[in-house]
Amino acid sequence: MSKSNYDLVIIGAGPAGLTAGMYAARARMNVLLLEKAVPGGQILVTDWIENYPGFPEGISGFDLSEKMRIQAEEMGLKIEIAEVHSLNLSKELKEIVLKDRSIITKSLIIASGASPKNLGIGEDKFIGKGVSFCATCDAPFFKGKTVVAIGGGDTAVQEAIFLTKFAKKVYLIHRRDELRAAKILQERAFENNKIEIVWDSVATSIEGFFGVESVKIKNIKTNEEKVLKADGCFIWVGILPNTSFLNDAVETDEFGFILADTKMQTSVPGVYAVGDVRDTPLRQITTAVGDAAIAALSAEHFIENL
Ligand code: NAP
Repeated sequence: MSKSNYDLVIIGAGPAGLTAGMYAARARMNVLLLEKAVPGGQILVTDWIENYPGFPEGISGFDLSEKMRIQAEEMGLKIEIAEVHSLNLSKELKEIVLKDRSIITKSLIIASGASPKNLGIGEDKFIGKGVSFCATCDAPFFKGKTVVAIGGGDTAVQEAIFLTKFAKKVYLIHRRDELRAAKILQERAFENNKIEIVWDSVATSIEGFFGVESVKIKNIKTNEEKVLKADGCFIWVGILPNTSFLNDAVETDEFGFILADTKMQTSVPGVYAVGDVRDTPLRQITTAVGDAAIAALSAEHFIENL
């Protein structure tokens, strides 16, 4: 197996990884960023971002991630499309195992992000047939149709509002009598006459023959069950960390999010975690890029002191 050597390897090309890469390249570190799919991360499937400073009119997730990628590459960052299989962090030099080779690095930043959670109510059967986790990708298929959106956080509420640009009706199913989403998003949802919020309710199954035809829901206070006729079902009930390659190499919280200190260092010296994969009180693009700048500087100091 061939090996190559770096000062710093970054895993994941979302806003956190791209920012860490830009800082490291600017500091003239020998840095490589590994991304398993397409640079951009979760913001690639975010329709519109209006809380990233510097864009008073807002910016699409795609455009913002492209700008970040271009800026980082112009600064000298090398990005390679490759999936990380495992890590060996037991020695001073860290080993990153890919499919066909290993990479040796003095320091590592894990910026692998998070992915949407499943509910296990039959969604697997209908992926691509009416079930989706991405309004930006799939909302146009539901022009003039009725859809169900599940969840009460920022993602569910923001994306339900986006869905109303296409769908004639959006049922928003939430398990409590209060939304978790930011107040400004709540206000917009309450004002939108295409959105009907179904409170205190959970979806129990998705039904249909060739595609989604209805979603069965249950009120958890009254136990009353209902069938909502719908052509689509969007699921936004939170996120899980993308850490399949980790195998307990660093400490995590009970949900698998990586624990890091104020310098973004994990339980292993020279290994940092940033952005959505980190145990953090706020998951925003602004916090991800802040984490990343700190981690890049920490990695630079770590290498200087080796
Ligand atoms: P989230 O904040 O964890 O919200 C998940 C929602 O799904 C909650 O309302 C939760 O209900 C509900 N839920 C969880 N498990 C459920 C289940 N088994 N059945 C039914 N409902 C369930 O996740 P998110 O909305 O994906 O956001 C993830 C992170 O990204 C957050 O930190 C968020 O602030 C951030 N984000 C920010 C923006 C923005 O700033 N514009 C946009 C998108 C995401 P409960 O409320 O009852 O727990």
